[in-house]
Amino acid sequence: MSDFNPFEVARKQIDECAEILKLDSSIHEVLKNPMRELHVSLPIRMDNGEVHVFKGFRIQYNDARGPAKGGIRFHPEETIDTVRALACWMTWKCALADIPLGGGKGGIICNPKEMSQAELERLSRAYIGEIYRFIGPRMDVPAPDVYTNPQIMAWMMDEYSKIVGGHQFGVITGKPLCVGGSRGRGDATARGGMYTIREAAKVCNIDLEKATIAVQGYGNAGYFAAKLAKTFFGSKIVAVSDSKGGIYSSKGIDPDAAMEHKSKTRSVVGLPGTESVSNEELLELEVDVLIPAALENVITEKNAKNIKAKIVAELANGPTTPEADVILNKNGIHLIPDFLCNAGGVIVSYFEMIQNSSMYYWEEKEVYERLDKKITAAYQSVLESSKKYNINMRQAAYVVAVERVVEAMKTRGWV
Ligand code: GLU
Repeated sequence: MSDFNPFEVARKQIDECAEILKLDSSIHEVLKNPMRELHVSLPIRMDNGEVHVFKGFRIQYNDARGPAKGGIRFHPEETIDTVRALACWMTWKCALADIPLGGGKGGIICNPKEMSQAELERLSRAYIGEIYRFIGPRMDVPAPDVYTNPQIMAWMMDEYSKIVGGHQFGVITGKPLCVGGSRGRGDATARGGMYTIREAAKVCNIDLEKATIAVQGYGNAGYFAAKLAKTFFGSKIVAVSDSKGGIYSSKGIDPDAAMEHKSKTRSVVGLPGTESVSNEELLELEVDVLIPAALENVITEKNAKNIKAKIVAELANGPTTPEADVILNKNGIHLIPDFLCNAGGVIVSYFEMIQNSSMYYWEEKEVYERLDKKITAAYQSVLESSKKYNINMRQAAYVVAVERVVEAMKTRGWV
């Protein structure tokens, strides 16, 4: 990760958009800064009896359009600027998806891979103990992100309920089904991404049934992306990777077999019938669709010129740097920008909030149909705006999203 700063990237992207939209300098200034942020210290008794103090954050970047929304990430290399960038991107994501929510994000600097379940539970509950005044169904609603999961959401919901009283299912999304989760939330990020790839393939004249796909990252988003691309489109998944390395097979990889191998050995590497590739090599493979589904800063100035995919579908947040964007664009690669491509997660989170407040739970089919409608409309609005202003897909996504946030700020009388 080194000295890469995702918030600088996020701000650069805002500057570009401000230029295109000729934004007022005061509005530009508001958009470049988080509205609120909370820093917390969490002393946790570890299983060996020692107390370790963890640092955590929660940021409400901009809530002009409604309560802040966004995940909580547990990561050893988490930084305040990463959380700021992610909260910023959530603002544009919710606006572009046209859901009545603002942007937020949380994070704790920790390594969940080295912690027991009991330690993770104590950390999750302690975090809520510190941030509960700052969140709530009408203020700020967290969700899962990198290295957090439905069980962690359940502990957090339970802790919040104990503190404020009552059953507060609406305080957090991405919960297990038995405690107010929504059907279809588990694979929603990947599924939403598939709907956008389907639309992009029409534009690029790609027959997805014959397409080859490489997936970088094999967490929730990456695994389901590989699985759904195969079942939805019949595409061939030729490569997948995780933090330990990647695998390649020209005959195609079975996404479930790769997941099983990962559960047993902690990595997809070594799956019988595949050859090893590095994460870097995977990105440069000759495929139709490349899906970065891990972390930020993987497509950079250094490797962008070697990317041969026709479509880059950003399921991760912030995988491409602004310098790399210019190169991909010059090379005619169709980019589905992160806050469009991965909006499926927060769209179904929004459905979960609706179900929690009405106490009426939807069928899976209803969730999928509504998700498809929302994200396809978002894709079309970006495509239209890119044609109208003759700008690339990321700039177009910014234009649509920022215009909506600015309209809400003006209407509320903030600017
Ligand atoms: N963490 C996910 C994201 O980056 C989901 C956020 C949510 O559901 O609130 O979009």
